[in-house]
Amino acid sequence: MAWSGAAAALPVAILTYPTIQGVSGHLGPVDLILGTFLTAGAALLPDADHPEGTIAHVLGPVSYTLCKLISWISGGHRHATHSFAFVAAVAYGTWAGEHWIGRWFTLGLVFFLLALAVRALHLCPPGDGVKAWGTIVVLAVAGTFAMDHWISDKPVWLPFSVGLGALVHLVGDCLTDRGCRLFWPFKLRTRVPIIDRTGNKLETWVLSPLFVLGTLAVLWYSLTHQP
Ligand SMILES: [Zn+2]
Repeated sequence: MAWSGAAAALPVAILTYPTIQGVSGHLGPVDLILGTFLTAGAALLPDADHPEGTIAHVLGPVSYTLCKLISWISGGHRHATHSFAFVAAVAYGTWAGEHWIGRWFTLGLVFFLLALAVRALHLCPPGDGVKAWGTIVVLAVAGTFAMDHWISDKPVWLPFSVGLGALVHLVGDCLTDRGCRLFWPFKLRTRVPIIDRTGNKLETWVLSPLFVLGTLAVLWYSLTHQP
């Protein structure tokens, strides 16, 4: 569901944009577009419990080892990391890291989320080899340097982006046969199976056009709402 998460991030970001702007007061179109990109990356986070999944090889052996560890701790695929508790934990964790560790945390997180976004949006060669994750690392490092000039020490929107990305992922997974344990640690499994295992039709005919429309809407918004 990597691409769906990325595709859903943009329209959701547009819908919540006025609210977040009301809270922080000074967001420009650049914040919105880059925030959306990072949200797309965060939409892969819950699958950190899946050593055979998309996210596992994003940073080569480092992320693979991490995924195995998270999988072991969280009790296997689609358990603890596919719950509201996880969404709250990553959003709060981002806020806490920003406030207590500061800029290095923010930049580190930006690097990691960019790496995930590169993978989610298929901007790197396919596969799990060094060619794929080498490209991801190079692109994410370049992106982080670019963002370093622009991003503040404690971006108000970053915890929102991270939480939102994880939430979008859960919604996507709930639409499949297997569902999610949204209320983990309770055993209840939430599922509204309208997508089959591959989910290709929905992605091709509904979510991808939504993504394109969302991008156009952002461009239109930024052109017509110039201060
Ligand atoms: Zn998942």
